[in-house]
Amino acid sequence: MRVTQSIVLATLNRHKYQEFEELFAVYPNIQLIQVSDLVSNPNKLSFAEEYDTYLQNAFAKARLANVATHYPSLGDDSGLEVLALDGKPGIRSARFAPARPGISQDQANMEALLEQLPKQTTDMTARFVCTLALVVEGISIHATGTLEGELIRAPRGATGFGYDPIFVPKGQQKTLAEMAPSEKNAISHRAKAVQELMEQIKRHSIVLAKP
Ligand code: IMP
Repeated sequence: MRVTQSIVLATLNRHKYQEFEELFAVYPNIQLIQVSDLVSNPNKLSFAEEYDTYLQNAFAKARLANVATHYPSLGDDSGLEVLALDGKPGIRSARFAPARPGISQDQANMEALLEQLPKQTTDMTARFVCTLALVVEGISIHATGTLEGELIRAPRGATGFGYDPIFVPKGQQKTLAEMAPSEKNAISHRAKAVQELMEQIKRHSIVLAKP
C-alpha cells in the first residue's frame, strides 16, 4: 500500500525505535521516521525526562520533535511499577540505579531493583506502563497501555531490554526476554498504547500529513 502519512518518533534510542517500527508495521500507510533522519544535529535535542508523570514527559518529547521537524510527532514515556515497592521505579525506571562502570545501565537497574525488593516479599506483582503523546499541528492526543505480570528474582532470557529478563506477563511462563520480539509485541504495554492511539486517530479523522 502507498505510504500517505508520516510520524516522527521523538527518541534517539535505537532500541525503542526498532520496537515501534515493528508495532507500526501493521499500519502500512504510516511511515515511521527517526528524528535523527530529519534534524541535522539531533544530539542537541534534549529528550530528557524531567517531569513527574509519564504524560508530561511524553508530551514534552513530542512537542520538541514537532517544533524541530514540523512533522506529526510521537513522544513516549514508560516504566515498571512494582507493588511491593509502592509503584517504584515508575517514571524513574530508566535511571533507577546510578551508572556503574563495566555493566550496562539495564543490568545495574535490575540488580538495584532486586536488592530493594524485601526478601520476605511473596507478592511479586508488577506492571509496565507506556504513555504515548502525539502532537500534530494544532492537535494533541494521548494513550496509555499497561502489561500486568510478576517479577522473578533470577533473570532469564536474552532478548528485549530493560527489565525484560525479570518480568513474566500474567498467564505466561516465559519472561519477556525469553520471548521473540513478535510475541512481546503482541501483548506489550507499548503495543496496547499504539493500538489505542491509532483508534483515536481514526475516530477523530486526524491526518498525519508531512509539513
Ligand atoms: P523511558 O520510557 O525511556 O523513560 O524508559 C523507561 C525505562 O523503563 C526503560 O529504560 C526500561 O528500563 C523500562 N522499560 C520500559 N518499557 C520496558 C519494556 O518493554 N521492557 C523492559 N523494560 C522496560
